[in-house]
Amino acid sequence: MLIVQKYGGTSMGSIERIKNVARRVAAAKDAGDDVVVVVSAMSGETDRLIRLANGISSSPDDRELDMLVSTGERVSIALLAMALIDMGYKARSFTGRQVGIITDSAHTKARIEKITAERIKEALEEGTIPIVAGFQGIDEKSDVTTLGRGGSDTTAVALAAALKADMCDIYTDVDGVYTSDPNIVPNARKLNKISYEEMLEMASLGAKVLHSRSVEFAAKYNVPLRVLSSFTNNSGTLVTKEDKDMEQEAVSGVTYDKNASKISLIGVPDKPGIAGRIFGAISDANIIVDMIIQNISQGELTDISFTVPKGDAKKAVDIMKKMTKEIGAADVLLNPDIAKVSIVGVGMRSHSGVAAKMFATLAKEGINIMMISTSEIKISCVIDAKYTELAVRALHDAFELGEKVKV
Ligand code: ADP
Ligand code: ASP
Ligand code: MG
Repeated sequence: MLIVQKYGGTSMGSIERIKNVARRVAAAKDAGDDVVVVVSAMSGETDRLIRLANGISSSPDDRELDMLVSTGERVSIALLAMALIDMGYKARSFTGRQVGIITDSAHTKARIEKITAERIKEALEEGTIPIVAGFQGIDEKSDVTTLGRGGSDTTAVALAAALKADMCDIYTDVDGVYTSDPNIVPNARKLNKISYEEMLEMASLGAKVLHSRSVEFAAKYNVPLRVLSSFTNNSGTLVTKEDKDMEQEAVSGVTYDKNASKISLIGVPDKPGIAGRIFGAISDANIIVDMIIQNISQGELTDISFTVPKGDAKKAVDIMKKMTKEIGAADVLLNPDIAKVSIVGVGMRSHSGVAAKMFATLAKEGINIMMISTSEIKISCVIDAKYTELAVRALHDAFELGEKVKV
């Protein structure tokens, strides 16, 4: 079997832990499998590098930021390769460039376009274990790019697809995908299996256990994907095609995302073409807008609010300040401390009353809803960030997702 194994930041967090990873990789090799390893930077390292950049500049250049943060993974690949070589195995580290991970040029959020993987195939043929840097690639000019925070998962799944691997195992610090983040919901329940569709929705809505692009790749190329702990031998969670024995609950998970800010334009002239101009300017700056609401107009004027990733908020406010003059709006307000809490479930399609129950649950906790958005299999509410944990736990209880307590 050909297995791609990915180890995240916590799993690679110290010398001891890197040695632990080396032992796991070696065990898979000893069992007769071909292994390709993808690793993240040691935990905290990417944050540290970003802090350095922010110390130099209030808006660091994106190309230079990628050059900087990609170094975290370089450290990890070399250390893991050394550990395996010391144990008597043939191992070799490779950067994204060396294995031909070609992306577009959208620095800090690049998308993989092609993988050649020649050096990986050569290494496998001679029995060497390739250790690949996650999170990074190069664009057509050979400039270093990165895939967005958490992007090493995507490197692993994309490589598994390109190499037609039999399995892609994502080793992390929890032993699978849970009904909600087990670090904030103590009675969250581990799922044995989850469909690509539900997992994609959960990942896109903030469940950072998998990078959402990695789930898109897995679904598109049918890569069998598992989420496992690098610290235990538990069975983990299989992410796969929807099948009959999967749960069809109305709600199967609760997620949260604190990485968003809300921008409001006040006193906007309510006439055709204005929204097009506002969001045209935002998209020209490569900023992705998530939720949008427009109030009922008061006379000739209305208010428009929308959310953007936190890192893009400053840029978006600057653009909107220019825009207020052009379109004759009164003001721009920024609320950086919001969170989006969401409930996800494919069974929602055939159950009614789910939204009402969600809103009532938040109301009972005294939590105000600022924005709402729905799709076929999810409902999201924007709330004040300080209530995030309370909201997630209350929703998890209300939809009875927790471990059933035996009496
Ligand atoms: P890694 O460094 O291994 O990539 P991450 O920190 O990116 O690890 O992802 C693992 C974390 O995801 C867990 O520690 C957990 O707090 C969080 N998480 C959020 N939602 C979920 C969920 N539904 N199931 C499991 N973990 C989750
Ligand atoms: N090191 C990168 C990050 O911290 C990528 C990853 O861990 O997946 O976001
Ligand atoms: Mg991660």
